[in-house]
Amino acid sequence: MNILLHACCGPCSIYPAKKLQEDGYNFTIYFFNPNIHPYKELKHRLNTLREYCQLKKYKLIVDKSYPLEKCLQGMLNEPTVRCAYCYRVRLEAAALYAKENGFDAFSTTLLVSPYQKHDLIKAIAQQAALKYDIPFYYEDYRVGYQEGVDISLELEMYRQPYCGCIFSERDRYEKKPKQKVKE
Ligand code: SF4
Repeated sequence: MNILLHACCGPCSIYPAKKLQEDGYNFTIYFFNPNIHPYKELKHRLNTLREYCQLKKYKLIVDKSYPLEKCLQGMLNEPTVRCAYCYRVRLEAAALYAKENGFDAFSTTLLVSPYQKHDLIKAIAQQAALKYDIPFYYEDYRVGYQEGVDISLELEMYRQPYCGCIFSERDRYEKKPKQKVKE
């Protein structure tokens, strides 16, 4: 089976790519992440992924488009949580690319993170699979999350301090008001 593996960054790619390789699958990594802000941060994460793919001799496809305005609007207009739009825009792009370029299935490194909304990712990927008529390859990669972290630390890879969007960057650094101490 030839799988298109959508990747959000280098560190998150480590375990899913390793596992696919161990299981004997052919795969190509696909980078499309307009949810990563600002642009300089996107370049930093992409460069880290490029270096890792070169090291491991993994095939990498980069979609250089960066529809920032559309992405921000989509996140703000999403009726449930902004992450739903964020997952959909990336997974639909991966599904479409996989379909148009002769892959047997698509998957995503987002499935490795215990900090992401795993069930929502799975549901949205399954919808994208139906929409573009291409199988979604599901595996719960969270079991290998720590292994991926350890390898990324050994390799001194850049590890981003926030999820990706400007909202998550604010949430990461915003000073929370101190709770009043009862006298
Ligand atoms: S918090 Fe992360 S998953 Fe959610 S919208 Fe922002 S970048 Fe996307």
